Amino acid sequence: MAILPSDGSAAQPAPPPRVVQPEPRREDQGELSLRPRNLQEYLGQAELKQSLAVTIAAALQRGDPLDHLLFYGPPGLGKTTLSMLIAAEMKTQIRITSAPALERPRDIAGLLLSLQAGDILFIDEIHRLNRVTEEMLYPAMEDFMLDITIGKGQAARLKRLPLKRFTLIGATTRAGAISAPLRARFGLVERLRFYNELEMQQILLQSAKLLEIQLAPEGAQAMGRRARGTPRVANRLLKRVRDFAQVQGKTEITAEVAEQALDLLQVDRFGLDPTDRLLLETIIRNYQGGPVGIDTLAAAISEDSTTIEEVYEPFLMQTGFLQRTSRGRVVTPQAYTHLGFEPPSTGLALDQLPLFEAGLD
Ligand code: ADP
Repeated sequence: MAILPSDGSAAQPAPPPRVVQPEPRREDQGELSLRPRNLQEYLGQAELKQSLAVTIAAALQRGDPLDHLLFYGPPGLGKTTLSMLIAAEMKTQIRITSAPALERPRDIAGLLLSLQAGDILFIDEIHRLNRVTEEMLYPAMEDFMLDITIGKGQAARLKRLPLKRFTLIGATTRAGAISAPLRARFGLVERLRFYNELEMQQILLQSAKLLEIQLAPEGAQAMGRRARGTPRVANRLLKRVRDFAQVQGKTEITAEVAEQALDLLQVDRFGLDPTDRLLLETIIRNYQGGPVGIDTLAAAISEDSTTIEEVYEPFLMQTGFLQRTSRGRVVTPQAYTHLGFEPPSTGLALDQLPLFEAGLD
């Protein structure tokens, strides 16, 4: 007998787990062992690393803490890892938290008061801070002062407490969702990019070494192509492919083994999984390739519109399969071809052309 929820409505089936999901999953718990331990092991993001190296060296020379830093970019690209490495380079402690854990004013107050001089406070998903917490951060970031209200009602009074000079590192998948006053208080705002194929191959080879997996360079290349430019996805695919190779009695992951395993996982040669394909196919079949509004699309594929915007779209835009236009989402001719459809003969109508670049925010 089916168990219905108490309101009597039919239970929604849980969405199938995505092997290419860029956010952390339970199976990534071993991630710690794969985390680069120094900036040399942190591959790719060359320009960003270079500019950070200069900032770190200058701060160390002056004996000052680093300026507050904001990292933005899709999940799994290494924002947390990079922040941990910055702390190691600065030889300071890092406290890691995320906006949803800072619900009450006393959460952020307690954290700020516990920081030592030079410490780094890392706040993930900083765009999700509530207004009160965010406003408490302003004087803390600017003047290293904490304003707290003591007592209630008429007896309430404001007290200013001095804080140690700390560095705030904020991370977000949605730079555009950060309020202007908060954004203005960061000395540095840096974007993390998707990794290219060569970088992905190097990351996979490095992870394979740490996990003592025999991975041929061509195997790493084959996997790197399908790992969506995202190290977290690459590491997860590596573990899945290792299991496949083991069951098949193979001692080394060659390109052929990797491709067989990824076919089995339904990750195609561009790294698209069934959900990505469903999204693109829905636009092609139901909306003649678009434009279609995000909410309509979300309802059509039973997915949350924020997840579509933050997780699916950045990668689909990066691969050139999807474009955001002022009138909605549009599938490109490349997507038609990749999914086995005939591209529209006239190409995109003029009014469907993207009006702005596929930005992350
Ligand atoms: P984010 O904070 O952006 O979601 P993380 O910093 O948690 O991403 O990175 C996820 C995992 O990906 C890390 O545990 C690490 O193993 C791997 N990783 C991320 N960036 C790199 C990199 N540049 N080089 C090697 N491995 C990386």
